[in-house]
Amino acid sequence: MATYLILLGAPGAGKGTQAERLSQTLKVPHISSGNIFRENLKNQTELGQVANRYISEGHLVPDDITIAMIKERLERPDCARGALLDGFPRTPAQAESLESILAQKGARLEVVLYIKVPQETLIHRLSGRWMCRAENHVFHEEFNPPQIAGVCDYDGSELFQREDDQKETVTERIRVYLEQTAPLINHYRQKGLLVEVDGNQSIDEVTEALMAVLSVGANR
Ligand code: ADP
Ligand code: ADP
Repeated sequence: MATYLILLGAPGAGKGTQAERLSQTLKVPHISSGNIFRENLKNQTELGQVANRYISEGHLVPDDITIAMIKERLERPDCARGALLDGFPRTPAQAESLESILAQKGARLEVVLYIKVPQETLIHRLSGRWMCRAENHVFHEEFNPPQIAGVCDYDGSELFQREDDQKETVTERIRVYLEQTAPLINHYRQKGLLVEVDGNQSIDEVTEALMAVLSVGANR
């Protein structure tokens, strides 16, 4: 049986950090819509250039573009046994499309893991976030520092700070999250798919909490 899961939470909640760890344990690909957009920008594709107009303002990339991109990604063979979605869906229309994409594959969502973090924590996390150029590994200058400043522990590539992690853009991204994405919490709660995990603890503790949810699910 294929395992499709969603990590839901505000920008800075820890989705990417946890997704890297969980995807290794669950042996399903980590699909981050933000990373796919950034890779397209790095490769100077048309999609990357269009998406960047929205990303740099802290706005969402329009649904039709985002949905087509994720649909294509989920149709690749490595997603046949499942996927861990990070940053998608972010709107009710994206959530609906995901249901039909999975239905076409004869699959369904297993669980939505909502990482809950107080708003005041988010800004501190995003302002200290560093990402690696090669493979999007995530660090924090205070909470999860690399061994050598500015260098990725995993692949030795350069670390950089995202332009959209600057304070003004972050404020806009959190506003957009509350307006367009937060309604998905209730949407999935009503469907009985939502499990809430306290994201306001250490990275290891959050991983443990998520693993506990998944092992309960596996024993059901
Ligand atoms: P974060 O990890 O801080 O939540 P992401 O890397 O997931 O940020 O996303 C960065 C930006 O890419 C978003 O602010 C948005 O502009 C765009 N983006 C990512 N995923 C989506 C999506 N599902 N729908 C629309 N825009 C998206
Ligand atoms: P998201 O993908 O939800 O935007 P990230 O996983 O990129 O969030 O995490 C945002 C920043 O906060 C990163 O710098 C990361 O190292 C750090 N971080 C993630 N989880 C925690 C945590 N539980 N405690 C402290 N810092 C964290």
